[in-house]
Amino acid sequence: MQVVMITRYASCACGRVQCRAVGKPILSAVCYCDDCQEGARQIEVLPDATGFRDADGGTPYLTYRDDRFSCTTGEELLVDYRIRERTPTRRVVASCCNSAMFLKFGPGFWVSAYRARFEGDLPPLEMRTQTRFRRANTDLPHDVPNYGRFGMRLFAKLVTARVSMFLGR
Ligand SMILES: [Zn+2]
Repeated sequence: MQVVMITRYASCACGRVQCRAVGKPILSAVCYCDDCQEGARQIEVLPDATGFRDADGGTPYLTYRDDRFSCTTGEELLVDYRIRERTPTRRVVASCCNSAMFLKFGPGFWVSAYRARFEGDLPPLEMRTQTRFRRANTDLPHDVPNYGRFGMRLFAKLVTARVSMFLGR
């Protein structure tokens, strides 16, 4: 039986860079960790950068397996930003219009794409992570599980995704 997988597109603000994500993401989450906040600030001050964070400072991501996410147009315009010289995490920005496109943790098999870049019907939020770093005057909503750190469910999802990938599914 052929399983039809939904394809979603993420575009930079000016449209010169486009990425494609296939299937259901491993995870749809908002992260408040200090690195995500620092990384966001670094990108937000770039000329003409468009916002990609929620009002309370959290960064929403759709996380996909490496083999299900690719840049289809304008790859040569992508530039890496790192918050420390030797960190394995890079935040990849479309240099044409300074749109944050995705985050790549070196050793990982996944890509966390910035949700704000996607169009169309998006999967609902599943969890908030690293909420101990959240600094906001508003109360944390309780519509989805909130984790002070990363939460076991996140690791469980990564393991499941890894096994599927290994089995060629
Ligand atoms: Zn652009």
